[in-house]
Amino acid sequence: METVLKNNPYKIDALLGQALALRYLKNYTIYKDKIPPLLIFHGPSGVGKMFAAELFSKSILCLNGDSCGICQSCKMFQKKVHPDFILFPENERIAIGEVKNPDVFTIRWLQSQRVIYRPSVSSKRIIVFPDATKINSEAETAMLKTLEETNDHTKFIYVVEDIHSLKSTIRSRAVEIPFNNLSKSVMQEISDRIGIYIPDFNSGSFDLGYLDLGAWNLFQEMVENSIFDSIQLLRLEIWIKGYKTNHPEWKEDFDFKKFLDTITSLMIYSYFKNQEKDYSLSIDALFEFKNILHKDINAMENFSVSKLFNKLCSLVH
Ligand SMILES: [Zn+2]
Repeated sequence: METVLKNNPYKIDALLGQALALRYLKNYTIYKDKIPPLLIFHGPSGVGKMFAAELFSKSILCLNGDSCGICQSCKMFQKKVHPDFILFPENERIAIGEVKNPDVFTIRWLQSQRVIYRPSVSSKRIIVFPDATKINSEAETAMLKTLEETNDHTKFIYVVEDIHSLKSTIRSRAVEIPFNNLSKSVMQEISDRIGIYIPDFNSGSFDLGYLDLGAWNLFQEMVENSIFDSIQLLRLEIWIKGYKTNHPEWKEDFDFKKFLDTITSLMIYSYFKNQEKDYSLSIDALFEFKNILHKDINAMENFSVSKLFNKLCSLVH
């Protein structure tokens, strides 16, 4: 059990470079009774607001206190089937909903089918709006009422870039948690300390929106188990090339280059981390691949991937 705890990096402390936000959130994970009905995570895109919302929720919902990773709640959370964690869609407008039989992910649905009931697994329920500006005006008014009357077990998180995009009536009911841009050194530290690689060090932010915690886990596991052996490398190459076809849920909006960028970044990081052997030539090959990737050669990705893996296979022997 201890090993599990020690090796599980996904506790609230995994939120780096956001000292102020972390201070607030950590405090709430200790004093859960002090969590206000609404928390507003605000700041630039891609600096970890949604990452924080997931870490925080997992921690609050955990039955053993702090994201133990092994309780029923943590397991359900990791499998994305936790009934007490409600994540609203990010890219759709959120409406108030019909009075009778309201659609899922409307405010009336939330009120009549969720909020009135006690949480089913954990002691709290957390409802996250990844883009609170998507809540339309009528829905917002209804939300105000919910916030006023909310019971102690239901907590809301609004995520926004600009805090001023929210009405003062909403803000006055919330505790605002500020997020800031990450410095290059913090981004480096994040990759070194937790093993989450930030694909683009230069931008000061990384849009985690397209990758959730589950995907990170999967990608990391896949990479770490595959890069030190030529047979496994071959398997990884096939997995990469077939990823889009094998994951129809990614078809909309799937950016193969971004995906390749992320995977190769994880590979660089995993090689770098390995202390048993010097993998600098493999790392060089990966950096070279990333350069080619960013030169925008259309439809050449699969060819470049083949070349890269050919090289990597020859280097692990
Ligand atoms: Zn747990």
